[in-house]
Amino acid sequence: MRHAFTAVREKAATLRARTHLSIRFGKLNHCTLDDSNPIGAKCLEDAVIPPGHHGPLIDRCWPARCANSIVAPEHLPIWQAEHDSLTRLRTLPALPSNRRRMIEEQVRDVEIALNRDTP
Ligand code: SF4
Repeated sequence: MRHAFTAVREKAATLRARTHLSIRFGKLNHCTLDDSNPIGAKCLEDAVIPPGHHGPLIDRCWPARCANSIVAPEHLPIWQAEHDSLTRLRTLPALPSNRRRMIEEQVRDVEIALNRDTP
């Protein structure tokens, strides 16, 4: 996992040096939200936006579902590890059914992220 985070950091530094676009680099995805045109930003949907705030609400990010999200190849080991962990968890016999449903929804989100590898 440490190697995956290091790869993300190194790739972000390379891209940052080469691009003039506004890209926020993250461990799970990169965000390309244009602050002047936030249409489609999942993190801003139904959000209470603090006065004076501009840009995304990173702690509400939906990497798998937002049109502004880029899941790059260097992010995939992290998503794959999450998928493995959730897949193991959902097979536990003692898991309450509502918790199992939540985990299955998380697995679907992770699978969307894994399949939208958009370098
Ligand atoms: S949901 Fe994530 S990728 Fe989309 S605009 Fe918000 S922070 Fe950026």
